[in-house]
Amino acid sequence: MIRNSLLVLVFLLSVSILKAQTDMKPEDTEVWEPVPPKVTPGMYPGMPPSDAIVLFDGSNLSKWRNPQWPNEVGTIGELIERYQNLKTDGPFDDAGWKVEAGEMVVNLDNGAIETKESFGDIQLHIEWLSPENKVENSQMNGNSGIFLMGLYELQVLNSYDTKTYSNGQAGSIYKQKIPLVNASRKPSTWQYYDVVFHAPRFNADGSVKTAANITVFHNGVLIQDHVQLDGPTLYIGKTRYFKHPEKLPLRLQDHDDVNDVRYRNIWVRELN
Ligand code: MG
Repeated sequence: MIRNSLLVLVFLLSVSILKAQTDMKPEDTEVWEPVPPKVTPGMYPGMPPSDAIVLFDGSNLSKWRNPQWPNEVGTIGELIERYQNLKTDGPFDDAGWKVEAGEMVVNLDNGAIETKESFGDIQLHIEWLSPENKVENSQMNGNSGIFLMGLYELQVLNSYDTKTYSNGQAGSIYKQKIPLVNASRKPSTWQYYDVVFHAPRFNADGSVKTAANITVFHNGVLIQDHVQLDGPTLYIGKTRYFKHPEKLPLRLQDHDDVNDVRYRNIWVRELN
């Protein structure tokens, strides 16, 4: 008796669901709010859209400065110590790289440069050129780097057909994540990255709430697919996260003894 009643109930429910489905109108699944803000795209691929912050348009380095320390550090202990002593209010020196023919050029005497503005989650477009350096050390071959938040390095290197460690070649998240493919162009040829970067989030006690993640297209080819980062980039040893501000400057690396790496057409869109 109970079983029969249950069967009837299930039948009636199924009929009512079917009826509800057939009663649906097309407009019942239309969502009209919110309305996405209008953005005018760049005229050509790679050109900044109307809501981009242009960091370098070929004219000058007014959006850039010299950071408090010019070069990268080795171990996690050294990095944390640097950040504990970081004075964010300056004063800062002007960015000491050269601008030639609409391109910014690494100046070995200067060290790295960083943006005056700080960023968290961003879409980034950046174009770069690594010359061929005939050197034995594969990491000295047109090495520079794009340090998201000054901490997480997307490698810039001439690794078109030179052998180096896979997690140190162009498009790697240095010493962490190997690119899916090698989409490099020949040395002394302009290349570009399109990046989506999400900054890490921290709990009040300093523990990680959400790790940083990154998606990278190299010359239009997907090479990092929403990859979760292990922590800041280090030269020596295993990394780990430490709590840092929600937004930090974007840094471009001056790698020891590597000359003539060039950048142009750099813009970001803030995503938070
Ligand atoms: Mg580098």
